[in-house]
Amino acid sequence: MNDELRDLYQEVIVEHGRHPRNFGRPDSYSHRIEGYNPLCGDQLILYMNIENDTIRDLKFDGRGCAISMASASLMTEALKGKPRDQALALFDDMHALLTTGASRQTADLGKLATLSGVSDFPSRIKCATLAWHAMKSALTGNQQLVTTETDAP
Ligand code: ZN
Repeated sequence: MNDELRDLYQEVIVEHGRHPRNFGRPDSYSHRIEGYNPLCGDQLILYMNIENDTIRDLKFDGRGCAISMASASLMTEALKGKPRDQALALFDDMHALLTTGASRQTADLGKLATLSGVSDFPSRIKCATLAWHAMKSALTGNQQLVTTETDAP
């Protein structure tokens, strides 16, 4: 494994991929959206409980590669308790980080910054953005299946 790969599969990603946080179907939720990345076969269902424009709770279910699972796991940790507008702002930061490796706020992203190595591997970018696209679609009123097929890196 070369240095680039070692960076990408940093301990936090491997660990979250194997033991995703907030995984499973919750008893109740206000929003449910399915995401699918046909390039890799990653599938996930994102459940969110949104009250007063704040994400009170969120969980995800599904299966996919370690990067898709780790990205979704890290996302659920980061978004719990976040107001809707902050979650959408974080989408923009993470989309920039995952597609270009740069973000205006990398210093503030904490564990999420470990996903930046994904940008060096164009074929894996859609794995990492899947959960984020699902979240944005749910927050902007789209309850349909999200596919990253048309998402240009
Ligand atoms: Zn994948």
